[in-house]
Amino acid sequence: MAKTLLEVEGLKKYFPVKSGVFKRTVGFVHAVDDVSFSVSERETFALVGESGCGKSTTGRSILRILEPTQGKVIFDGENILSCSTEQMRKKRKDMQLIFQNPYSSLNPRMTVRMLLSEPLETHFNLSSKEVQDKVAWMLEEVGLAREHLDRYPHQFSGGQRQRISIARALITEPRFVVADEPVSALDVSIQSQILNLLMKLQRDMNLTYVFISHDLNVVRHISSNVGVMYLGQIVEKGETENLYERPLHPYTKALLSAVPSKDPLNKKKRIILQGDVPSPVNPPKGCPFHLRCDKVFGPCSSSRPELKEVEPGHHVACHLY
Ligand code: SF4
Repeated sequence: MAKTLLEVEGLKKYFPVKSGVFKRTVGFVHAVDDVSFSVSERETFALVGESGCGKSTTGRSILRILEPTQGKVIFDGENILSCSTEQMRKKRKDMQLIFQNPYSSLNPRMTVRMLLSEPLETHFNLSSKEVQDKVAWMLEEVGLAREHLDRYPHQFSGGQRQRISIARALITEPRFVVADEPVSALDVSIQSQILNLLMKLQRDMNLTYVFISHDLNVVRHISSNVGVMYLGQIVEKGETENLYERPLHPYTKALLSAVPSKDPLNKKKRIILQGDVPSPVNPPKGCPFHLRCDKVFGPCSSSRPELKEVEPGHHVACHLY
């Protein structure tokens, strides 16, 4: 069995809401509210949910790009939230982020050579030849050629730019990568090429991914385990195929009812969710989903359901189970 590389325990990220002349804190946005999951080495764990559910904030909090409010992020046995700035700087080469938008994540004034050399010069003490050899190797790994080295980001297509972003994230040979909607800004025709590239690099470089996406088809294609997020919380998690075939939480069922079944004879009835996602500034008491749930009953509006293992490896936060 693969070793656990990352454990996230009770992670919270609240943003203060300021108001008035003196900018007093009048409340908090509960962007991530008690999220726990673990990821084994060489596994892809996906976080999926509607826009604004807290999945990107979770990814950034794990990497301490955003400082978490509470919780633990245990990477390779060490709680990195206890690390000093200097200790964290050394860990960055092992924990990287692939951004959603390859148009804004690359400095337009830097050539590909500069963009890929920079992380090596920051984290390693290599000779100039070693840096250039590694840059050329990484560029080939992501499917680009040496003649691309002295071009600027605007001289590439969207798919090529995302390949450069991936190369920049992976050139330090990290062990763990958060990929935050890495294909959602790309044309559909390019998306599968980039997904296949990420899967190939995972095999070649023994990478562990947390993959963030709102696209249920993409998540099914790439992940082995998945957590479904709603209003800053994981409401269901488990092995991807099992969860897609047998969703338990009413929210997961509604999300998946919109995805065409693999079996053309098994037509699912589309569940249309009523109402909007409540504000994360004043999340509802009890179950976060109770204002939109078609199965709501007695305890749902007053008591928050815990995320419980209801069958081996399959967890759900719902009073029905
Ligand atoms: Fe619906 Fe109640 Fe389950 Fe929440 S706890 S998902 S409101 S049935």
